[in-house]
Amino acid sequence: MKNVNPRSIVKKEDIALDNIIVHVQYKKIKNLYLKVDVNTCEVKVSAPYTISKKRLNEFLLDRREWINTTRQRVIDKQHKNNNFDKLGSEEEKKLREYLKFEIKNYIIKYEKLMGVKSTGFTIRKMKTRWGSCNIRTHHLNFNLALARVPRECVEYVVVHELTHLIEPSHNKNFWNLMEHYLPGAKNLRKRLNEYSAI
Ligand SMILES: [Zn+2]
Repeated sequence: MKNVNPRSIVKKEDIALDNIIVHVQYKKIKNLYLKVDVNTCEVKVSAPYTISKKRLNEFLLDRREWINTTRQRVIDKQHKNNNFDKLGSEEEKKLREYLKFEIKNYIIKYEKLMGVKSTGFTIRKMKTRWGSCNIRTHHLNFNLALARVPRECVEYVVVHELTHLIEPSHNKNFWNLMEHYLPGAKNLRKRLNEYSAI
């Protein structure tokens, strides 16, 4: 192996860790290296090509917490840098289309499940809220900034606004209904609150 570049890649593989994809490069190296790309938020691992699956899994599980908090930090930083006012119209259009599609699908799913009916929805740049619901007209509004939060948090906001069609106030009944239709709603709410609505 004299003439082989010790760092050359032998094999590449993508591994799922919870809902995160880990890009693994097997190289002729001795140690394991882990990093989160500050631009793409991708999780990258360089591993010795001789490593066992078990050892690699243990390595990733041990660092699961670090991976999650680091990714969160990268995402937060990107959010801060991505002020919506500075968005080009083309980029904003794309975000709107993506969000419209996501919201529409969740509305279809949960209207059926919850036995409620909305009359339509609008995506707007909102200053302080993720969404709102007109309980008289059943029209829903969603913040464009939802285009930049995890999908399950978008799902949370959709279910939240649809729940208002059954229960207008944020009382115990409201939160019980939320938890019933979307188990884990409380945690999703916490996750959503880590993002800025502006
Ligand atoms: Zn509400």
